[in-house]
Amino acid sequence: MISTTIFKLPGLLFRRGMENTTKGHKHADAPATSGRRQKGRVMIVGAGPGDAELLTIKAWKCLQQADVVLFDWLVNQSVLAEIPRHVKTEFVGKRSGKHSMPQNAICERMVELAQSGLNVVRLKGGDPAVFARTTEETSALESAGIPFAIVPGITAASGASAYTGIPLTDRHCAQSVTLTTAHFKDEDVLPDFCQMAAQMMSQTMVVYMGLKRLSLICEQLRKAGLPDNFPVAVIENACCPNQQVVTATVFSISRQVAEAELQGPALLIFGEVVKSRQSVTPALLQQVSHVTGI
Ligand code: SAH
Repeated sequence: MISTTIFKLPGLLFRRGMENTTKGHKHADAPATSGRRQKGRVMIVGAGPGDAELLTIKAWKCLQQADVVLFDWLVNQSVLAEIPRHVKTEFVGKRSGKHSMPQNAICERMVELAQSGLNVVRLKGGDPAVFARTTEETSALESAGIPFAIVPGITAASGASAYTGIPLTDRHCAQSVTLTTAHFKDEDVLPDFCQMAAQMMSQTMVVYMGLKRLSLICEQLRKAGLPDNFPVAVIENACCPNQQVVTATVFSISRQVAEAELQGPALLIFGEVVKSRQSVTPALLQQVSHVTGI
């Protein structure tokens, strides 16, 4: 959702056909506008971590001007509500383990739609540059000679930090922050836990896609020398109304997360910064007046 002020932005370009709105989003089976435009293009757009008001104005404009939007499972419903109803949408989600569409099929679909002359938005949760397989998609576009651009989004770590009050750096205890993942291309490969444990002593480490491996990660980090009382936070559904935060130690976090029955998506924050948590009131962020998508 978006505030009324954003609606009044000067120069906002409303696409043709806007007046012909129909109920519900359509599926793009055939190009609706071929013949009008010679060549399609793809905008790879970051949808942010959940709250639609965290979309950039540029991302929002891309959604208004799209012919078709291909979106992932991580894209929040509130962001999808910002897509005008005449714009076609296709879910190409892949949730950990459950691939509803293989990556190469997503690439092919994107290329096919753009080649038919459409203005395609490839909408990705968070930021397209962070654990989003964007390079696979841009390579396919490059090979097909399709022009594309990338619109950044707020990555989950930044969103979670703001909405929980846990800073990512703090000059008293963390001079840097690492965004990492517990999942490599090869599922059997594990991170270097000794190196991770050593880094965590002086910097923050945010682990994406780590919830399922939380107990393994904590066990290995403790074996690698991380003290049992080292602070950890797990944030589920960051920036969404159902956000949940569990803070504990590397010794107790897995048990507490199991008790809280977190399902994900979730981020793990390892570091002394968890103790520097500021008492933010996230409800204040929900008090902006909204208008729904057209
Ligand atoms: N491109 C995304 C990351 C995609 S990887 C970004 O920049 O944020 C998917 C992982 O991101 C999830 O498994 C989870 O670890 C994390 N994630 C994404 N959105 C999240 C949210 N709203 N709350 C908590 N974690 C989230």
